[in-house]
Amino acid sequence: MITISKLYYTQPWRRELNTEIISQQQKGDHYLVVLAETIFYPTGGGQPHDLGTINGVPLLDVFEAEGTIYHVLPEPLSGTSATAVLDWERRLDHMQQHSGQHLLSAIFQDEYGYRTESFHLGAEYCSIDITAASISPKEQVKVERRANELILGDLPVLTYTLEPDRFQHLPLRKIPDREGPLRIVEIQAFDFSPCSGTHVERTGQIGLLKILRTEKYKGMTRVYFLCGNRALEDYRRKHEICFDLVALLAAPEPELGQKIRAELERKKELEKRLEDLKAELIHFRAQQVVGAAASPYYLDLPDTSVEEAQQLSRAVLALTQGMVVIKLGERVILSHNLADGPALGQLVKEKAHPLGGRGGGSPTAAQVYFADPDAQQAFLALLEEEVGINRSV
Ligand SMILES: [Zn+2]
Repeated sequence: MITISKLYYTQPWRRELNTEIISQQQKGDHYLVVLAETIFYPTGGGQPHDLGTINGVPLLDVFEAEGTIYHVLPEPLSGTSATAVLDWERRLDHMQQHSGQHLLSAIFQDEYGYRTESFHLGAEYCSIDITAASISPKEQVKVERRANELILGDLPVLTYTLEPDRFQHLPLRKIPDREGPLRIVEIQAFDFSPCSGTHVERTGQIGLLKILRTEKYKGMTRVYFLCGNRALEDYRRKHEICFDLVALLAAPEPELGQKIRAELERKKELEKRLEDLKAELIHFRAQQVVGAAASPYYLDLPDTSVEEAQQLSRAVLALTQGMVVIKLGERVILSHNLADGPALGQLVKEKAHPLGGRGGGSPTAAQVYFADPDAQQAFLALLEEEVGINRSV
């Protein structure tokens, strides 16, 4: 094991470093580089690793194994010195979310006795799972308000390492799961947590904490939240959506919900009215079909949907006994309500399949699809002979 100075602990606000390369080894397509000291936080304690560059080469990953910190690079470094540059935006984001999480967990515990069982900090979302079957909107507002009061209070966030005999008397929020000295993150006099993550130096640097939503999760409650710049970005995005909707719906912001509900209601009514009119129209067309010719009725409807063609067939057969054959683009739809009519599914199988048609159906309703228009014409010609349709009307 090599002892490496973990500057991300001692100088968490440091963004650049000139140091020495201790070792470098190839592993698969990558290179594992060990530096004499580092500003890059390795994945751990629920916090993702830092990113940045070493001598201009972008870091892919940082991990710790047996006390050594490995920097994973896509190409080897030359020479023995290293200039490390931290992706500060990412680090600050992680510190804001992580310190915000400590604050949020401490308040849930202090106010309601809910313990935090797990913490997720990812690019997509941040959440904690707390030992509450559910939390009410009132509790949520109370916790969120208190978190932001403590942010405004700008309490110092202290980090230190203690031997077991020293931390035993501390009101630790989490029982340590390992022996030996413990790194403690303290929100001054309010919260004491064993934690290996990087943190802001004062709660004011969290900026803002917003609870987004909660959901039930394995008998607990998952609380989704955002802090700092993420919360501001979320606010900006939501404000933009709101702003667009205000213009689009010509309604002031407080009335947006009411306006959208009214519009959805109107849409439902219009859809219902459209359905009624369509049914009326189909009935009217069926009357025309029956009035203009005798069964079997043949219709060529290039611009009609399959559903509408089927509705029309049903409407015709509701008015009279007979057979309906509809050519619908590459399809042919057949139906009848005759006691002694041909078995249509069988007819399709025997006459259309040999021509390359695909489809089938029951004795009284069938459908067939032809990729080849000539084959479809050949099938229709067969139907003239077999069932007596008249394509010239
Ligand atoms: Zn932590």
